[in-house]
Parts: sequence; structure tokens; C-alpha cells
Amino acid sequence: MPIDATQPYDPDNIFAKILRGEIPNDTVFEDEHVLAFRDINPQAPVHVLVIPKGEYVSWDDFAAKAPDVEIAHFVRKVGEIARDLDLVEPGYRLLANIGGHGHQEVPHLHVHLFGGKPLGPMLARG
Ligand code: AMP
Repeated sequence: MPIDATQPYDPDNIFAKILRGEIPNDTVFEDEHVLAFRDINPQAPVHVLVIPKGEYVSWDDFAAKAPDVEIAHFVRKVGEIARDLDLVEPGYRLLANIGGHGHQEVPHLHVHLFGGKPLGPMLARG
């Protein structure tokens, strides 16, 4: 079920549990502020989720509340992770789902990074 992106942060969400080490993950990159791991249900040959370690419900919450330095670090790391996965020349897609119409299911900000094949048009038509 999609979440309401205006809800308060839920510390029991699945990505919070991953950050606390309570649930395993297939880590691609980690530093003090960012974790990137492979999606459990990949929609492309490369499907990585990049999350900040701070408690942000969604991109909207992050954009509104995170300090500039955290936002800059996060954006740079997403770029670096894609570069390190050799995705820049063939190309890749970033996606952040927000709230109900965005079909966001996990209430901790995550950016999907897709690649490894031609990804087709941006949205299904109809
Ligand atoms: P969204 O609809 O943008 O909230 O996407 C949530 C994503 O989290 C989906 O692509 C799920 O497959 C993925 N996901 C859920 N649980 C896990 C998990 N334990 N490890 C890795 N990915 C997960």
C-alpha cells in the first residue's frame, strides 16, 4: 500500500531496520550519511536503492528539512554510485516515489537507480 508522505517518520519502517542492522541487505556503498543496497525485487539488471541515514520520510521531507550539506552529499553520492557501477555511458534512470500517487511504499526516502539495459519510456502509457 502506498504511504502518506506527510506522515511522521516511523522508526519501525523496513529501511530503518536495515540501517540498524536488524535486517540484512546487499550493500553496494556505505559511508557515515548514505547507504546504497540492491533492491530485493529488482526491476532491471541493476536496481539499487540509495538512502540517507537521516530520518526523512520522502524526497519532499528531505528537500524541505535536510541541511544543505546533507542534500549536497546525498546528491553527489548518488552520482558517484552510478559512476562506480559503470552506468554513466550506457545511461541509467533515477526515480523517487513520493506518497500515494507516486506509489511510495517504504516511508524512508530512497532513490531508485535503474540500469543495465535500455529502460524504455519513462511511464507506462494509459
Ligand atoms: P517504493 O515503492 O519506491 O517505496 O519502493 C520500495 C522498494 O523497496 C521496492 O522496490 C522493494 O522491492 C524494495 N524493498 C522492500 N524491502 C526491501 C528489502 N528488505 N531489501 C531491499 N529492497 C527492499
